[in-house]
Amino acid sequence: MNVHARLAAAALILASIVACSPEAEKAAAPTAAPATAPSPDIHAFRIGALEAVALKDGEIVMPNAANESPWSDTAAARTVLTGAGQPGDAIHLSVQPLLVRDGERVVLIDTGAGGRMGTQDKLVGSLRAAGVDPTTVTDVLISHAHGDHVGGLVGADGSLTFPNAAVRISEPEWEYMKAGAAKAGEAALLTAVTPKVQPFAPGAQVTPSIRAVALAGHTPGHSGYEVVSGAERLLYIGDAMHSSVISVQRPDWVNGWDTDSAAGVATRQGLLERGSAGSLRIYGVHFPFPGLGRFQRRDDGFVWVPETTAQP
Ligand SMILES: [Zn+2]
Repeated sequence: MNVHARLAAAALILASIVACSPEAEKAAAPTAAPATAPSPDIHAFRIGALEAVALKDGEIVMPNAANESPWSDTAAARTVLTGAGQPGDAIHLSVQPLLVRDGERVVLIDTGAGGRMGTQDKLVGSLRAAGVDPTTVTDVLISHAHGDHVGGLVGADGSLTFPNAAVRISEPEWEYMKAGAAKAGEAALLTAVTPKVQPFAPGAQVTPSIRAVALAGHTPGHSGYEVVSGAERLLYIGDAMHSSVISVQRPDWVNGWDTDSAAGVATRQGLLERGSAGSLRIYGVHFPFPGLGRFQRRDDGFVWVPETTAQP
């Protein structure tokens, strides 16, 4: 038996001793449901001293076709996607709201689609897998009023998913949501959340560790969120970018979902310049799960470099 085999055998024996011990069983019982059960739909990480969890809600898949994709030059989009090793015939956008424990506050940034847009409505299950009951969420921070970000505020029966949470949204976005929700037939959602909404001025400090960051272009009051703890920071970019390939490599392309195209382009270029120069940690709510990574300058443009190893 070589050294490795002996060590493995010793580890097995030790494991069986621990498993057979009544004390170990008693001690193990309360932790049978760990705070973060293994699940492919959650990814726990740290931002300085803060605990955070990426929470999978689902996947939006649309054909790379005119009037379906936000990028009108579908042939060019195919070239960029296939150049990055992705299928060229479809656009895949993940949806993953972000949970941050900020002291006593349990903060959820965006709420997923609530099953809209062909998505899987996984958010509440992902939250529970992360050991969080929806009734314990204290603050819901909304990036903007589109259905894949506010849809999860209510359940299928129209009741509030996070009944004890304040819903924080920028003042201009709240005005836009009220106008748009009525038009889009979402009046029930609007009625349910209105008593919970606490609008803030763009750029406001919204929790002790989280500051809103106005990211213009996508919607009138679109807001990112910067989470800061000690020397570490993370920027949640909302829908300033949708695709980790197209939005990053072709920030100058008009995105048909932006209400102000020129501002959207300027915001993307600013994020890429600032993010790559400072090696800023980014959270892309629509980037491949878990959406964590950094922008890097490459040749005459930029690429997305995902974090491949979980943070301690
Ligand atoms: Zn979105």
